[in-house]
Amino acid sequence: MDLELSQEQAAVRQLAKEFVDREIVPHAAEWDRAESIDRSVVKSLGDLGFLGLTIDEEYGGSGGDHLAYCLVTEELGRGDSAVRGVLSVSLGLVAKSIAAWGSEEQKRRWLPALCAGEAIGCFGLTEPGTGSDAAGLTTRARRDGGDGGDWIIDGTKMFITNGTWADVVLLFARTGTEPGHRGITAFLVPTDTPGLTRREIHGKLGLRGQATAELVLDGVRVPDDCRVAQEGKGFSVAMSALAKGRMSVAAGCVGIAQAALDAAVSYATEREQFGKPIAGHQLVQELISDISVDVDAARLLTWRVADHIDRGLPFATESSVAKLYASEAAVRAANNALQVFGGYGYIDEYPVGKLLRDARVMTLYEGTSQIHKLLIGRSLTGVSAF
Ligand code: FAD
Repeated sequence: MDLELSQEQAAVRQLAKEFVDREIVPHAAEWDRAESIDRSVVKSLGDLGFLGLTIDEEYGGSGGDHLAYCLVTEELGRGDSAVRGVLSVSLGLVAKSIAAWGSEEQKRRWLPALCAGEAIGCFGLTEPGTGSDAAGLTTRARRDGGDGGDWIIDGTKMFITNGTWADVVLLFARTGTEPGHRGITAFLVPTDTPGLTRREIHGKLGLRGQATAELVLDGVRVPDDCRVAQEGKGFSVAMSALAKGRMSVAAGCVGIAQAALDAAVSYATEREQFGKPIAGHQLVQELISDISVDVDAARLLTWRVADHIDRGLPFATESSVAKLYASEAAVRAANNALQVFGGYGYIDEYPVGKLLRDARVMTLYEGTSQIHKLLIGRSLTGVSAF
């Protein structure tokens, strides 16, 4: 395996690094306090081609491979996970699903705007009563008329990233009578459709700059051409999106851990106690080296997923391994960095408290750590423990 980046990959990483240092890092704390990132950043992500990575140029994308996508995602995660999440959902879960499963008309309607950052997408799977057990969802879509007629959708979606900002929701609803995953269908619902209301969820521990929302659908009528793929294929659409999405979360976690490492090294070499920089105390070096090992291990596991996708190899279990490890590593790394900062880590004048708050959700969404252990266990043993 060649771990050297290609010229294109190194260039896109450098572009992202410079953008993050110039446009994101100086504002991240203020956006966190204000509970909103500056939305012009989304347009900038589009202008730089980041929101079109891996999408064909024919549909307004910027091409590139999954490793380039990981490198950009990592840099955004280093700067502000709230910004990183906008890209991971709008591009990673929505645009990439449209590219993979959408009709020609759906691709032409949505991809150019999503890739340019002129439209934002959100992913509506979780409901108040179904989180880990997503196949149990109860949002219902029924036909008004026969085959080819409109659909009427009723239900509630919970914790939807980008929810109040999005122009379109990739929504999963039950259309069949079969229980479990077989009766689920995916739809692209414009968020200005009558009957769709959105409520922003405030008071989050982290990712405060990001809009997380509850979506309520009350008699939402959409034409049949909003259906993505065949009826009953919705759960496959959702799971294939999440398999790649987990790589994106993992890459964001590498960014958090790298930011924790950078902050810890810088502070430890400046702060003096007992007559020398705290970097000179062995137990502080232990904290720093633990962070560093977590950064490297999480990054290599994440790059392996990108490498498998780009070479057309199976990647779902590798993606679970990377997401499980990188999310736990990001929490550990941020917590270790906070320890290096002592009491100063506990106030928001320094970045490490935010890193820890932002990292915490990574072990919860796109499959909790427990769910990934069950997925990995099932893949190894062939026995489902769900
Ligand atoms: P539950 O499923 O109720 O789990 C509670 C606990 O039980 C967890 O510890 C879990 O690991 C454990 N548990 C459950 N089942 C098992 C089992 N079989 N074995 C062992 N332990 C188990 N969803 C979307 O659809 N779109 C989004 O954009 C989105 N964004 C989000 C953003 C944020 C900030 C948050 C917090 C959530 C977001 N989610 C989104 C939802 C997220 O994916 C769910 O919260 C997650 O899947 C967990 O579901 P839950 O919260 O209902 O927890």
